[in-house]
Amino acid sequence: MTSEWPSNWADRISGHACEMCQSKRLDEDVYGIRIFSTAEVDAVLQRADIQRGYTLVIWRGRHVVEPFELTEPEAQSYWKATLTVAKALATFYRPLKMNYETLGNTVPHLHTHLLPRFTEDPAPGRPFPLLPQSGDEAKVSSSHLASDAAELRALLS
Ligand SMILES: [Zn+2]
Repeated sequence: MTSEWPSNWADRISGHACEMCQSKRLDEDVYGIRIFSTAEVDAVLQRADIQRGYTLVIWRGRHVVEPFELTEPEAQSYWKATLTVAKALATFYRPLKMNYETLGNTVPHLHTHLLPRFTEDPAPGRPFPLLPQSGDEAKVSSSHLASDAAELRALLS
């Protein structure tokens, strides 16, 4: 299997072709339902049926690729929001372990994948086999997703 970096990588890195910077920060979109937000951070419970509770925390300030580009107050704001959401996911889903993946190899704009890990899990004891979303993944039923999102929003309010 071969793979390569996206052909417009330079534009993604610079922010000129950054889909996360173009986000309208909706409460609900094709990717999922927003369960938490601050002035500079959104957390979106994912619609793709990849792992129960799979949530993306997204930096919504200026375009930032690496977390070390954040100022100290920005870093505090980002990681505090990330930990707040992770704790709510752990409280609600009761996983064996929470995972925190700050990758950005497809969308190089600061975001962190929060993945609860369970007894029934695709890779027990190992990193989660996370692939870039194609849009063709099976989806969590919209009623189930809405119900989980409402419970998580309540925990986070
Ligand atoms: Zn961006």
